[in-house]
Amino acid sequence: MAVRASRSLIRPLVQRLHAYVPGEQPKIPGLIKLNTNENPYPPSPKVLAAVKAAVDGRLRLYPNPTASALREKLARLHGCTPENIIVGNGSDELLALATRTFVEPVAAEVTRRTDGSAAEPASLPRRLPSKSTVQFFNPSYSLYPVLAEIAGAQCNAVPLNADFSLPAPAALPRLGWDFKAALSLITTPNAPSGRGFSTAALDALCAKSRGIVVLDEAYVDFARENAMTLALKHPHVLVSRTFSKAYSLCFQRVGYFVGHADLIAALDKIRDSYNVNGLGQVAALATLDDLSHYRRNFRRIIATRELVTAELTGLGWAVLPSQTNFLLARPPRFPAGEWLGRLRAKKVLVRWFKHPGVSDYLRITVGSEAEMEAFVRTVRQIAGEK
Ligand code: PMP
Repeated sequence: MAVRASRSLIRPLVQRLHAYVPGEQPKIPGLIKLNTNENPYPPSPKVLAAVKAAVDGRLRLYPNPTASALREKLARLHGCTPENIIVGNGSDELLALATRTFVEPVAAEVTRRTDGSAAEPASLPRRLPSKSTVQFFNPSYSLYPVLAEIAGAQCNAVPLNADFSLPAPAALPRLGWDFKAALSLITTPNAPSGRGFSTAALDALCAKSRGIVVLDEAYVDFARENAMTLALKHPHVLVSRTFSKAYSLCFQRVGYFVGHADLIAALDKIRDSYNVNGLGQVAALATLDDLSHYRRNFRRIIATRELVTAELTGLGWAVLPSQTNFLLARPPRFPAGEWLGRLRAKKVLVRWFKHPGVSDYLRITVGSEAEMEAFVRTVRQIAGEK
């Protein structure tokens, strides 16, 4: 079939879509990889043993379709019931499910681009109904606008304060925040800024919201506070968690939502039958049996984070206070994009977002102590370059 003919068979929405760009996963020997917020330490020996023990003839069988044992164990951990929990193939899957469950698509021809501009035609009204709105703060997780676009929803990106703190609820309408939006996605602590938001501030925001609020706590284990109580207190609030970062299980893809049983049941209706692979369920279950191992790991990463913050600050970098396993920092001397290239040339990979508001910064994952010593050494070398 001619190329043009096959293109015309693709939905216009998909043709127009700007796909999510994940961080690079290069396989360069000796590379210090600080670009995708992975945990530098392996899963606990008990988790590795459990996964290895599960690799046998049982791989031919389907896994438990509802991850029931994992949901029961998570329910005990969070003081709720398994009906309050849905497990996903990473939390990304659940974020996508939320857009499909709670947001009414707008007609294809009026879908907006991720930058908020009308796709076509330009004469369409600026504001579309709240029931079709996915809103989030800017900057936050760059997957959100892509998920909204895929779901045929309208995006409402509202700026955080200049220091990346959360605007007060009273100021939010002026900034364009719609308390009736069908779905509000809030990364807390925030990515890519690393800033923590207080549970009290999030509670006030949730209390005013009329639509669904998802508190995306992908990095919360590295923070002082978490907002899990809000998922159990408000019937319209979901908390999203993942085993990827804090529990060293990116490879296995396991995340979950906690919230009101009615919301969880609705998400469950449109979930793929076997969405969570069997080895992922085994790994997550074994993780929950060894939480003290991981708590030691969090303390270690937090200590490294504070050391690197102090070192970089001493070298003239503006480092934002972080409640996560990464730092957002504005380097001196060269533009951030140039630092990215210079670091890369010395086999250190960090992340740079070209988006307005963060393009002066680099996002640096907190690696092991040895990796971060090498990172700081490399930074010192580059600072001395012409
Ligand atoms: N939320 C945020 C803020 C993230 O940065 C990520 C990882 N990129 C996720 C959710 C998704 O994590 P996962 O799908 O691995 O659970």
